[in-house]
Amino acid sequence: MTVRTRVAPSPTGDPHVGTAYIALFNLAFARQHGGKFLLRIEDTDQQRSTPESEQAILDSLRWLGMDWDEGPDVGGDYGPYRQSERRAIYEEHVQKLLDSGNAFRCYRTNEELDQLRITKQEGGSLTALKVSDLELPADVIAEREAAGAPFVVRMKVPEEGTCVVNDMLRGEIELDWSQVDAQILMKSDGMPTYHLANVVDDHLMAITHVIRGEEWISSAPKHVLLYQYFGWDMPKLCHMPLLRNPDKSKLSKRKNPTSIMYYERMGFMPEAVLNYLGRMGWSMPDESEKFSRDEMFTNFDIQRVSLGGPVFDVEKLRWLNSLWLRELTAEQFAERFAAWGFNPERVLPVIPHLQPRVEVFSDVAPLAGHFLSGLTPLTPESFEHKAYEGEEVVAVLQYGLWLLEATRHWEKENIEKALFGLAKQMEIKVRDFLFPFFMAIAGTSSTISVLDTMALLGPDMSRARIRHAIDVLGAPGKKKLKKLEKDFQAIVRAIEASETTD
Ligand code: GLU
Repeated sequence: MTVRTRVAPSPTGDPHVGTAYIALFNLAFARQHGGKFLLRIEDTDQQRSTPESEQAILDSLRWLGMDWDEGPDVGGDYGPYRQSERRAIYEEHVQKLLDSGNAFRCYRTNEELDQLRITKQEGGSLTALKVSDLELPADVIAEREAAGAPFVVRMKVPEEGTCVVNDMLRGEIELDWSQVDAQILMKSDGMPTYHLANVVDDHLMAITHVIRGEEWISSAPKHVLLYQYFGWDMPKLCHMPLLRNPDKSKLSKRKNPTSIMYYERMGFMPEAVLNYLGRMGWSMPDESEKFSRDEMFTNFDIQRVSLGGPVFDVEKLRWLNSLWLRELTAEQFAERFAAWGFNPERVLPVIPHLQPRVEVFSDVAPLAGHFLSGLTPLTPESFEHKAYEGEEVVAVLQYGLWLLEATRHWEKENIEKALFGLAKQMEIKVRDFLFPFFMAIAGTSSTISVLDTMALLGPDMSRARIRHAIDVLGAPGKKKLKKLEKDFQAIVRAIEASETTD
């Protein structure tokens, strides 16, 4: 048997550190066994998936030094490797389940489903919806069918009993069927859900070991059942511990930059980031902290993964990076520094903004040093300005950050639209409004346009600097954050309303 593993990211946002971590362990496992590692794009959520996000995922995994034997960009014998291109395959498999009586068309409306859940909750039972809850009289089904009403396809699941899931690290895990919904397998738009597409693809792509995050344990019973319904052998399952912030909460961008591209922009060495990801829950037999990708693969043993939540600590990563950095010769250092900071791709777009403003080359560094730096050195006093009182400035930065987090296409035009809309709604003059953003992003207000700077720095570094500015000013506590969120929602509604009347 050839070992075949996969990483199956959904291209719905920034390339996440967690994706790279799971990819690395799948890759290490495949390489250790002389097997194959493939990359599959799970883009069945058409609303949220974007080609930019897919590209960013591929680019950042490559930047880290990972390679895959099969995938949407390299091809392979088991393609297509993008789920949106496999619709016919899923339709065929849903039909099989309908024919064997293991799935059914469900014509329940959203209102009915809400009502069913409320009734269940009030009755004190679990809210999982079962076949018996969802059933409709035959004449109602016929009526809805005849009227061309939308339907979904759901799988049948046992109403009670336990499902035993075998996990390579945890042994047998018992899960209660009563908590499992009659899962939707195909949505009313004909697209499969994750569960169906994932099982069908893992089988058809001959995956032997599914190594994924522990957040998927609760989905495993549905998958076990689907394999049984299709009469297929199960791949081995291995649920990796979730990455955590230093305070042990689940890794989140509020506490830690989670986009891999941030680490590139910050000037980390890819070898060091990969090395650090390899340290997440795993250690070398000799416990050495610094090791290369190939050293990891040679010594890899999945049983050495420990389940205590691995902490992703940027300070620790910086320290590890410093070990890698110090080992470079002066020539290598110079070469890599230049490749990072002075490559044409990075420098050329900045020049048109600089050239009209400088008289001699030595004017460049004071004007544009922030393009080469990380987080801006700031104090609360940096934000003192006549237009702002008390905590207003935190609110402006926080609202701006939320809007920028929701900006999917990172272009100057969209950044401007988001921030100017907010300024107008908050009735703050644009100049005054932009002041805290200048400070957060550039550390000064006398430099090139902050909107251009953000567009050039990219979403990860821009958002990280604004987050850092909020921290310097004193990040709002839970209660204050709730209030800000509420006020922000009202502002967003007002912005939307004014856009439709404009
Ligand atoms: N598309 C899922 C994700 O984004 C894949 C989960 C799995 O590996 O089964 O994490």
